[in-house]
Amino acid sequence: MTAGQGIEQRLAQGVVLGAEGYVFELERRGYIKAGPYVPEVVLDFPGAVRELHREFLRAGADVMVALTYYAHREKLRHIGRENDLEAMNRHAVRLAREVAQEGGALVAGNVCNTWAYDPADPATSATVRAQYTEQLGWAVDEGVDFVISETNDYLGEALIALEVTQELGLPAMVTLASTQPDTTRDGYDYVAACRILADHGATIVGLNCDRGPVTMLPLLARIRDAVDCAVAAQPVPYRTSPAMPTMESLRADGVDRVFPLALEPFSCTRFDMAAFAGAARDLGVNYIGVCCGGAPHQVRAMAEALGREVPASKYAPAMELHPILGIAGGAAEANVLAAWNVAG
Ligand SMILES: [Zn+2]
Repeated sequence: MTAGQGIEQRLAQGVVLGAEGYVFELERRGYIKAGPYVPEVVLDFPGAVRELHREFLRAGADVMVALTYYAHREKLRHIGRENDLEAMNRHAVRLAREVAQEGGALVAGNVCNTWAYDPADPATSATVRAQYTEQLGWAVDEGVDFVISETNDYLGEALIALEVTQELGLPAMVTLASTQPDTTRDGYDYVAACRILADHGATIVGLNCDRGPVTMLPLLARIRDAVDCAVAAQPVPYRTSPAMPTMESLRADGVDRVFPLALEPFSCTRFDMAAFAGAARDLGVNYIGVCCGGAPHQVRAMAEALGREVPASKYAPAMELHPILGIAGGAAEANVLAAWNVAG
């Protein structure tokens, strides 16, 4: 990847690797409160955001996404920090830019579902438009290369984000949430909704969040067939299945509710995510990443599955050097290994 190229030029050259999941990862690290999930960390512990950006960059991410997810007026009002709205949005872009410059990555502004949109109430469209306009206005002011509008439950809300992005003169990547079996919450088949977004001029359309690799891939194949523009796929790294197609629908014996605080037993391994990256590339997906739950070890495995050597590859596994599993072991090590291999 060459510095100075925009998202369109990079897509023309091959797969662009994304990496998200900032909110979940920083919650796990103790910097974001689960529940409201507002990225207060941007102002309260900027070093933690910078570090996670850098970890994703070293793992091979081509895009640093500004952590402005849920940093919109409605959400900040809920936690009593509405006065920090502008500072939080501006500083998030600065942090992303600062780290992107360390590795020639692009910077994406970010907006998401607002929970303020109601297709039955036209007045809410104006509320959403105002929130996106102020957030993305600050993002453009600070300097972003394109905008990611994501986790859109409603096509109508996604179209507002697309229009605001276009008015600002930036390329738009617009991805839908897919919590329901077949349609957006305003009743559009996911594939048809992506086609409408493409027809309205989105540079990239697709899906993010909610579904794991296994249950996102079949939808992606249909989206790929339906549109001519670039397609994005950022699943959650959880082992969803046809019976439990989204992370919200996962159930486990003895656990009251798996989502969002008890998802770990369903985590995809790095190998699962590497396999996903290869499968998505083979389908013709152009922007391949990860959403809530994603972590740098998975992103590195995805980058390497795409044939890349990235800065963190320096510390990629070398199991031949493991004291027991490696090749240099003698009889003592063989005895240890034999003990490890005894099933309970
Ligand atoms: Zn997500």
